[in-house]
Amino acid sequence: MPLRLNDWKLLKNEIESRGATLVAVSKTHPSEDIISLFQEGQRHFGENKVQELLEKKESIDLDIQWHMIGHVQTNKVKYMIPWIHLIHSGDRLKVLKEIHKRSTREGVKTDVLLQIKIAKEDSKYGFDYHDLVSLLEDGKIQDLTSIRIKGVMGMATFTDNMDVVRAEFRKLKSYFDTIKDQFYKDSALFTEISMGMSGDYQVALEEGSTMVRVGSLIFGPRNVTT
Ligand SMILES: *Cc1c(COP(=O)(O)O)cnc(C)c1O
Repeated sequence: MPLRLNDWKLLKNEIESRGATLVAVSKTHPSEDIISLFQEGQRHFGENKVQELLEKKESIDLDIQWHMIGHVQTNKVKYMIPWIHLIHSGDRLKVLKEIHKRSTREGVKTDVLLQIKIAKEDSKYGFDYHDLVSLLEDGKIQDLTSIRIKGVMGMATFTDNMDVVRAEFRKLKSYFDTIKDQFYKDSALFTEISMGMSGDYQVALEEGSTMVRVGSLIFGPRNVTT
């Protein structure tokens, strides 16, 4: 594992001292790296592909809180229910309905974040904010009673320009505030803003992130592009 232990402790402390959660994004890295970090006290790990998540979960017999952070095909949802800790990528109604259906069948509630588009590129997954508000106004998401909506998730534009990134994170925070105020005012559950990665987690924390998803800074560069 490339990050020295002391550096990881500093990172974790920097994040937790602001009341946020560090999700260690282990995609493309071997299970041994996850186990080493778990032994140092890390509990939240994130993966962006269902297949890889399943392989790792099956190879590691530890009490890890697994986060799904990547786009999920509807037909893969069933493999994550009932044990997934949090699905960050609730990015369209179809996948939310499937999570609801499978959770109902298993008799569980599944925690999900609403992924909202904040970046310039069209390639990013996520709800268009205005479409999402319409769905909420129509009660379409609240109807899915086996899902607990815990907050929002977003990914900033991939750029070194931190002014652009900061403006996008600020936008996500304002979306969170508006949605909470209009639809989840009395919910003690709607509390999370998942934003910030290796290159921008500090900006994200300054703009109100409660959950940062950090991969390469902890585990080193990935040889595979994902
Ligand atoms: C890979 C990934 C991350 C972590 O990216 P790093 O730049 O390696 O920290 C965070 N969020 C999502 C959705 C990812 O796919």
